[in-house]
Amino acid sequence: MSTDVETPLREKTFALTELSEEEELFRSMVREFAEKEIGPLVRKMDQDAKIDPALLPKFFELGLMGIEIPESYEGSGASFFMAALAVEEVSRVDASLGVCLDVQNTLVNNAVMRFGNDEQKKRYLPRLAQNTVGAYALSEPESGSDAFALTCRATEDEDGDAYRLTGTKLWITNGAEAGLFIVFATVDPGAGYKGITAFLVERDFEGFTVGKKEDKLGIRASSTTELVLENCIVPKSNVLGEIGKGYKVAIETLNEGRIGIGAQMIGIATGALEHAMAYTKERKAFGKPIAEFQGVQFQHAQCATELEAARLLVYNASRLRDAKKPYLVQAAMAKLFSSQVAERVTSQAIEHYGGYGYSKDFPVEKFWRDAKIGTIYEGTSNMQLQTIAKYLLKDG
Ligand SMILES: Cc1cc2nc3c(=O)[nH]c(=O)nc-3n(C[C@H](O)[C@H](O)[C@H](O)COP(=O)(O)OP(=O)(O)OC[C@H]3O[C@@H](n4cnc5c(N)ncnc54)[C@H](O)[C@@H]3O)c2cc1C
Repeated sequence: MSTDVETPLREKTFALTELSEEEELFRSMVREFAEKEIGPLVRKMDQDAKIDPALLPKFFELGLMGIEIPESYEGSGASFFMAALAVEEVSRVDASLGVCLDVQNTLVNNAVMRFGNDEQKKRYLPRLAQNTVGAYALSEPESGSDAFALTCRATEDEDGDAYRLTGTKLWITNGAEAGLFIVFATVDPGAGYKGITAFLVERDFEGFTVGKKEDKLGIRASSTTELVLENCIVPKSNVLGEIGKGYKVAIETLNEGRIGIGAQMIGIATGALEHAMAYTKERKAFGKPIAEFQGVQFQHAQCATELEAARLLVYNASRLRDAKKPYLVQAAMAKLFSSQVAERVTSQAIEHYGGYGYSKDFPVEKFWRDAKIGTIYEGTSNMQLQTIAKYLLKDG
């Protein structure tokens, strides 16, 4: 049997994490921006629980808020994979800004590009690419995992030109900064999920208020707010997709959003691991740097291996999405696994810092707090397991 590994098949293989020249340039640009412009502000933003207002205009200037929006609508016209790369690189420095980018690109822009009519695309896509933060409002106080049990009600206005929305949305990322909200409401509570409809709601629409902001464990700078709709008047021209087909808008966009959360999680894990490796090379115990102890080296190696596996899942799901191939189960696996890995790697990073790791004077405790959300939003880990299990057990 030949031991020659240089077979034609081998020559054709390539690393799944390999980037094209364009992707590599983009990644370095985002990394440089994140390190130079976001890095120095991270601690204060976490303490103040607020994004520094100077940063979002810079995101727009760099084209990061409309990565996939076509150039004809003033966006960057790049791929979904590049949006995931941007979320990863930004989250390596600050996961709050990472999720802000993620919601904008993978949920809001995506929903308008995919379900908006020509007039809606002309009206909203240039704004989303250039100056308007978006938010995605599905969850309510009584419905999260069971999202289609939502009760926010949309009734047709007497004059027939508008809907009136009444209800409360909870946990809405970017609520404090957003100018445009995709709000899910039901036009017919008796119809179950078939009554759900998506609406494009502008912040200054009559009857719309941004409510209480949550005080959170992690991603503290990212705003998470309540939204209150009291007879909020939404023109019929702002129905996104078809009446009663809002469930499709929600399912399809969240499938992609999950890949973005996977990217956020690998960014967090990368940041934590890099800090831990640098620290263990400096910190001495028993007369030498602790990185020279095999026990510590093996823990770094374990973290790096799990992180690489998570990155492969996230990149593969992103590439499948760009190739317009089925990616539903791969997206669920990517989110499930990368959020578990982020929890493990960030926890290990704290231990490598010893007592210092437990202090807010060092960066790793924040990575750990930020990682926890990955197992909760855009579908809890149980919901990802449900998706994967359904796929495995379906007939045919
Ligand atoms: C910081 C933050 C930001 C968020 N941003 C947004 C946003 O921008 N837009 C938005 O719409 N929502 C957002 N959410 C809401 C988020 O998506 C929900 O919190 C999440 O889907 C879980 O819903 P829930 O909180 O109602 O938990 P529940 O649905 O009550 O779940 C509680 C527990 O029960 C488990 N469970 C529920 N049903 C089942 C089942 N059938 N089988 C097994 N286990 C089950 C869950 O896995 C979980 O462990 C955000 C939440 C947070 C915390």
